Formats: sequence, structure tokens, C-alpha cells
Amino acid sequence: MSEPLEERPYELVPQRPPADRLEPWVEVDSEALVALDAQGRIGALNSAAARLFGATREELLGTRLGTPLTAAGTAELVLRRDGQPAVTLELTPLGDHSGRRWLRLRDITRLATLREKLATENERAALLESAANDGLWHWDLAADRAHFSARWRELLGLGNEPLDDSIAEWLDRVHPEDRERVQGALRAHLDGDTVLFECEHRIQHHGGTWRWMLCRGRASRDAEGKPRQFAGSLSDVTHRRLAEEQLAHRSFYDTLTELPNRALFHDRLRHALRRAARRADYVFAVLFLDLDRFKVINESLGHFAGDRLLVMIARRLELSLRPGDSVARLGGDEFAILLDDIRDASDAIKVADRVHGELSAPFNIGGQELFVSSSIGIATSLTGYQRPEDVLRDADTAMYRAKASGRARHALFDTAMHAHAVQQLQIERDLRRAVERHEMRVHYQPIISLATGRIGGFEALVRWTHPERGPISPGDFIPIAEETGLIVPLGRWVLRQACMELASWQRKLGNPRVCTLSVNLSSKQLNQPDLAHQIAQILVETGVSGDQLQLEITESAILEHPDAAKTILLKLKELGLKLSIDDFGTGYSSLSYLQRFPIDSLKIDRSFVQHLGQERGIESDDARIARTIVMIGRNLGKSVVAEGVETAAQLSLMRSVECDHAQGFFFSKAVDGDSALALVAADRRW
Ligand code: C2E
Ligand code: MG
Ligand code: MG
Repeated sequence: MSEPLEERPYELVPQRPPADRLEPWVEVDSEALVALDAQGRIGALNSAAARLFGATREELLGTRLGTPLTAAGTAELVLRRDGQPAVTLELTPLGDHSGRRWLRLRDITRLATLREKLATENERAALLESAANDGLWHWDLAADRAHFSARWRELLGLGNEPLDDSIAEWLDRVHPEDRERVQGALRAHLDGDTVLFECEHRIQHHGGTWRWMLCRGRASRDAEGKPRQFAGSLSDVTHRRLAEEQLAHRSFYDTLTELPNRALFHDRLRHALRRAARRADYVFAVLFLDLDRFKVINESLGHFAGDRLLVMIARRLELSLRPGDSVARLGGDEFAILLDDIRDASDAIKVADRVHGELSAPFNIGGQELFVSSSIGIATSLTGYQRPEDVLRDADTAMYRAKASGRARHALFDTAMHAHAVQQLQIERDLRRAVERHEMRVHYQPIISLATGRIGGFEALVRWTHPERGPISPGDFIPIAEETGLIVPLGRWVLRQACMELASWQRKLGNPRVCTLSVNLSSKQLNQPDLAHQIAQILVETGVSGDQLQLEITESAILEHPDAAKTILLKLKELGLKLSIDDFGTGYSSLSYLQRFPIDSLKIDRSFVQHLGQERGIESDDARIARTIVMIGRNLGKSVVAEGVETAAQLSLMRSVECDHAQGFFFSKAVDGDSALALVAADRRW
């Protein structure tokens, strides 16, 4: 063992040179030898020693070695001289001889450099280990010994307690559910199947909690490819995993109410369907729940209150369920409940009653008491379903039935509804072929100018005569056409048909300005960016001028995509077309859009006209609304049309409020093209 390495430059102190001589054996010895006197000065040295010191013997004699030397043990001396590389000498005491201590010198510079390099390497490894954010591990496979860095311990919440030098210290802490996967990945890498070992797993923190770790490593191999050393890192990815879990949570849960969303509900429904397919005695039910008048609450109290209410309702719904059941928010004010393992429909009806009861107590929102009810549609697996969407569709159908029968009701999807649903499907199928099979016709209902009492124009209304069912009302097939998108080709067909008809009237009467024609436009059509182009083409084809054509659009169609609608409406105005709001008063209560959009006229919805003229003397609500709409129209410079005028009383009322036009059975139903032509011709002559 050498003395602790100590650097002390040796000084050359000029001294009185001792007249001395070397014993002959000293000079012969090939080793470098030095003799120190009692004061530690060099009293004698051989030439090998002088060479090591890099000085002459004369220069060295009498100088002191700057190294404390003990009798035993070797010492080291580092020589630094200007312009020359440092030299490390090892001094080994040989014993005393004639009053001097003899030392053997060895140049160990190379050894010292190596040693130093190794120390630096070790230091660097230790530094890397401690500075790295990742924990490091090393597994000597041959010796089956493992080493874990301080950071590794830290990541696991371990203090200084001793760890075995076994890889089990790691593997035993891995989450039982992940262990097999980790071991599989390790084996695959050791077998040479993977270039890199990489695995994310949970590991038990000292505190007992589970943390997610990303573990990576690589084995070194011998010439035969057998793994020898295996080292790698461990980093804590718990935060990232949590964020991922939250994202996943978000895609399956409704953020407002924290209830499962439609996607998760579908998933659960799919499981229930699978069970029902396996087990004949397993029955489940879905309750489709829609709040009554939620829109009114939302609009009158604001969305914040509306949201609060939805959350409170969600909590109450949860309360009315048994453990195995689940409730989800499908969107808006729609909820769905899955009742697991019931006996029959009567169980589901009981739950529906319980839900009604649960919701009947008032909700307190910001000091206000709110009363809420819901309509519930029920579908059970007894109907026999394959797909989740079919169950929901039928429960939804039943919900509409419930809603139609009043508030706070429920309805069970039954065979009649089923028949109706099947019929809807058939209508949809037949609708696709109706135009090409010439089952569609366009009829025309006159619109009368109240100032002149003459026909100002016609509204084109589509008519469908089904080959087996006979006439089907637009009220029955237009919604289906809209839902399926068939309204787009159908609407275009009606438009072309109507324009051709108008052109033929103009030719027959020799008057290009016989009357205007109103054509209904669905919101689906309004969403077509090239609508104006299509219409321009039809105008060119038929020779009808744009100002003879009026398009009827509902408020909701415009407000669905207000910006896109505005662009399209402006393009339509450029063609000279007139635009009219259909069913005015039934949609949004906001009137501001009337000014923002290029609208020419309003059609007061039939529902306001219907009851007019029944009471005498006092003005009814409907009459007031009709009067108000006419006034609004007048103030905004729009003309107003009253729809559904059926009686003379209604007509005179509309006249008294100075409505511009009227349309309704009182004048005429919609009639075919030839009859319409006869009507105008007669009107003109008259
Ligand atoms: P709408 O555009 O509001 O058409 C007026 C509806 O009221 C027509 O029903 C018409 O026959 C009916 N009506 C007119 N006067 C009276 C009356 O005095 N009393 C009563 N009770 N009803 C009257 P129709 O033809 O059944 O059409 C219903 C709805 O179907 C239309 O309502 C319109 O929204 C839609 N529709 C009809 N044809 C087309 C079309 O070619 N394209 C589009 N997109 N929708 C159409
Ligand atoms: Mg209309
Ligand atoms: Mg209408």
C-alpha cells in the first residue's frame, strides 16, 4: 500500500555539497537509488536516480525531497519542472545503511496516469448517475448482480436502506398486472429479438402508491451473441400517463356532468347485447330521457344556470339507479339509462316512475326554484336487437311518443311504434326512387294580395302519390328526405319543375310577369355552397327571370349556420331572387337576424292564424302576435304574408292589421299546374 498521494514540488536548494562517495554496489545497481541523511537531504545517489530526476548528481546532492518518508511503506513524489511533463516517482525505503536511509525510486508515471484516468471515469459515471433525471440500473448477467443508481432509489422513494444486488429489487416492485409484460420484454431483448428493451410499467413507490415508469435498456453481447451486461434507465412518466388517462376519460365522459357519454354508453350497450345473445333469460332496458322545455330554461335563465341544472339532474338520476345500472348524458338535455338484468318491461316502467318522482322535487338554482320534468322512452332487449344504435333509436322513438302525449310521461316502444318505424324505413327506401318513377308532382297554392284581392303568386308544394299507399303528406316524407339528404335532389327537381311550369304559364298567357312563384328551400339545400350556381342554371334553362322567384326558408335553417347562410343568401339576392322567412314566429325569438339578412318578406305561421276570429270583442294572444308581426315587418320594410287563412273572419282580421298577402284554404288548396293556370287566367280576366 502506498502513502496517500501527495504532490510536493521538490526544491533545489543549493547546499554545501557533502564530500561523499557511493559504495560501488550502488552504482552498479540498475535500479535508481537515493540515500538521505539524517536531515532528509540527498547524501548520495546513483546515476539511474539522477536520470529519473532529470538533473545532474551535483545539482541533486544536498537537496531535500519534499516528501515525508516513514520507515515503512512507499511514497509517491510528483516532479514538475518547467517545460517537461510531470513525472511520478515511487519511493520505496530499503533500510538504513551507514547512517543513511536508502530509497529505491521507480518511475510510475504511466501507472499514475492510468490510475487517474480510471478515477476520472468512475467519477464521471457517478456524476452521470447522480445528475441524470433518469434512474440508472446495471445488471451483470454473468454474475447475476444488479446495481441501482441513487436516482433510481429516489424515483422509488427509497432512502439509504440497503438494497440487494439483485434484479429482483426491481422486478418485485413491478405492478402484478404489468409483471408478465415486463418479463416478456426483458426475455425478448435478452434472446436478441429486440434491439432495445423498452417497457412502460407501474412500480410500487416506497409510500405504497403506484408510479408509471418508462424503462429502457440494452444488453452488450459476447462474440457468440450471448448477453453479458445489461444496463438502462428508468424514468417517471406518471404525469404523462395521468394526462393520457384524463384524455381517455374525456373521450368517454361528459365533461359537464361527469357522466359516461354516448360513446361509453354505446360500449356498455354492446356488452349488454352480447350478454342477451348468450343468455336467454337476460333482459335489459334502455330509458331515453329528454327534459321537457329545457330550451326555455336555458334561454331565459342563461346557459350557466342551464348547466348547473343539468349537473343536478345527473346526480338525481344516479340516485334513482341500482348499482349495476348506468346513466349517461347523450348530449344537450338528453340522458340514457341502461337497466341491467331486469325481469320484464314492468321493471323498466317502475324505474321510469322513480325517475319522474326524483325529478319532481324543485331544483334550487341561484336562489330560484325550478321545476323540471322529463319525457322517457323505453326499449327493452325483448324486442331483439343487434346494434346499440337500434336500441337507442327505438327508445328515442318511444320518447317522442311520450312527449307528444304530454309532459312527464313515459312510453314503451311497442309493436305499433315498431311498425311505424319500419314504415319510416320503407318511406325512405321508396323516396329514393320516387322522382325517377314519376311519383312526384308539384302543386301550386295561390297567394292573394290583400290590397288588390288578386293572385300575387303561388307557392309550389310537392306532392307524392305512392304506388301502394296513395298520397303521402309532405309532413310525413319531407322530414325523412331532410334527414337522409334526399331533400337536396328532390328540392332541385321541385325548383326546376316549378320554373318550367311558370315559364309555360308566361308563354300561354303571353305575359312574362304573370305572377311570382315561391319555392320552399330546406336547410340542407342552403348548406350547399353551389346553390346559387344551380339556381342560376335553372333560371337560364327555363327562361324565368330571377325576380319572379321567391325562396321560402325557415328561421332555423338560417340560424343553423348564420355565416354560411348569409353568404349564400347574398349570392341569391344577386340573381334578383326574393327571400322569405317561412313559419315565422315558431323558431327563435331573436329578431335581430331580420336586419342582418337580406330578407324580403315574412310568412306568419299558420298556428297564429288558426284560432283568429273565434272570439269576438277582445283581442286574443294570437291576434296580438299577428298584429305585432305585421308591425315588425312593416317597420323593417318587409312584406308580410299570412299562412293558413281558412275563414272570412281570419281574412278580415288580417286585412284589419294591414297584412300584405294571405294564403290558405279560404282561397284555394294547392292545385295542379293546369288548374293553377286557369286560376290566374280567370283572375286576370276578372
Ligand atoms: P309550408 O311551406 O309552410 O307550406 C304550407 C303548408 O300549409 C302546406 O302544407 C299547405 O298545404 C298548408 N296549408 C296552406 N293553407 C292552409 C290552410 O288554410 N289550412 C291548413 N290546415 N293548411 C294549409 P303541405 O303541402 O302539406 O306542406 C307541408 C310542409 O312541407 C310545407 O310547409 C313545407 O315546409 C314542406 N314542403 C312542401 N313542399 C316542399 C318542397 O318542395 N320543398 C321543401 N323543402 N319543403 C316542402
Ligand atoms: Mg312554405
Ligand atoms: Mg309555412
